[in-house]
Amino acid sequence: MHQDFKIIHFTKIVHKDAIFKFYEPIRVEGYCKLCPNYNKLWSCPPHGFNADTYLESYDYVLLVGEKIVRKDKSQAETSMNTHFQEVRRQLGDQLIKLSESNDVEVLIAGNCYLCEDCLRIEGKSCRYENRMKYSLESIGFLVGDIASELLGIELEWPESGKEATSLMTVGAIFAKDDIQLKSMLDQWR
Ligand code: SF4
Repeated sequence: MHQDFKIIHFTKIVHKDAIFKFYEPIRVEGYCKLCPNYNKLWSCPPHGFNADTYLESYDYVLLVGEKIVRKDKSQAETSMNTHFQEVRRQLGDQLIKLSESNDVEVLIAGNCYLCEDCLRIEGKSCRYENRMKYSLESIGFLVGDIASELLGIELEWPESGKEATSLMTVGAIFAKDDIQLKSMLDQWR
């Protein structure tokens, strides 16, 4: 962990219905259309499926949030965004690994980062279809609302032109029952 930052961990197991209160695919895709990754990465919309069908085999979800906070006396050699990218990839790697050996589906934080050049731009299939994961926002969930309402993460809205002193990242593990998730939670980190 970089000395200029600290990470605060948040976890919560909820029934899937709790996150579907924050499912607004049309509104969220509207935000995604403003992003340069829209329609350029297989992990990003538009998708040829919806979250209901994608997650229909699962009833419970373990939400995993991380809040990255710059320490007060930080000398700021590393930008918040650089550190944020490191943390979200570490979380993504952990979630992908978990999905390889368990009967779960996972959603990582943000877009896929497995290749430098996503093959979607060339109209070719994904290189790692079994490892590539979507995010909560890419399939239509309001991730900021899930973070604040379900995980209790206070969101920061920095002044225009200023770097945030904290950022959050949220992933999710979907399972058929909460007992499986409770045992994963005991081993998490
Ligand atoms: S694994 Fe590679 S090809 Fe597949 S979505 Fe990710 S970046 Fe694109």
